[in-house]
Amino acid sequence: MTEYKKVFEELKSEAGDRNVSLVAVSKFHPYEAVMEAYDEGARIFGENRVQEMREKFPPKGERPEGMKVYLIGQLQRNKVKKAIEWADRIESVDSLPLIDKIEAECCSLSVSIDILLEFNSSGEEQKSGFRTEEELLAAAAYLAGCPHINLLGIMTIGPLGGDDGANRKAFARTKALYDRLQEACPSVSVLSMGMSADWETALEYGSDEVRIGTAIFGERIY
Ligand SMILES: *Cc1c(COP(=O)(O)O)cnc(C)c1O
Repeated sequence: MTEYKKVFEELKSEAGDRNVSLVAVSKFHPYEAVMEAYDEGARIFGENRVQEMREKFPPKGERPEGMKVYLIGQLQRNKVKKAIEWADRIESVDSLPLIDKIEAECCSLSVSIDILLEFNSSGEEQKSGFRTEEELLAAAAYLAGCPHINLLGIMTIGPLGGDDGANRKAFARTKALYDRLQEACPSVSVLSMGMSADWETALEYGSDEVRIGTAIFGERIY
């Protein structure tokens, strides 16, 4: 048993008539836990390492009906091919060289991939993600020249151990950036923010995808 159903019900009641997706972040938890959550209704899973994703999940096309896996952790350029082969979406695209590499690998594999651009909304040095609004918007414009990459929106991680004020500041900044992105690229539709500790706040700022690990699967043992 996982807490998936409980989290799903809480999310549904907070979201009201908005459509908010729930990514069950299964990093550090075994495939048995993934399948428990799947049986409880979970379909989208999040992993932050390419190798763990590939060892844990069956390849695309061999998974249980409807199961999807999103890569949400920092991606090194030398793992892009392995990531594209397994992930249904990459939510952590954070540089132009990475974009170039993804486009090149998709081109040689003759596939396309859905991505989110990651925004470092808290300004923390150790975090990945584009550091300024202008850099992220420039990357979005650059993607117009990458026919194998489908830009869906923005992902951000709230401040580490953020208090409520810090969370609100980061989420408000990301929402304002998302609105600018949507003006430039009307087809974007995903604003991914909110984790176990801060998803309710993120919803107030317009999040339409939350990524929840601990509240569903329990503490991770590193
Ligand atoms: C681990 C992780 C999460 C889930 O965090 P919890 O606090 O366990 O809910 C969400 N997003 C990203 C990018 C993560 O790495």
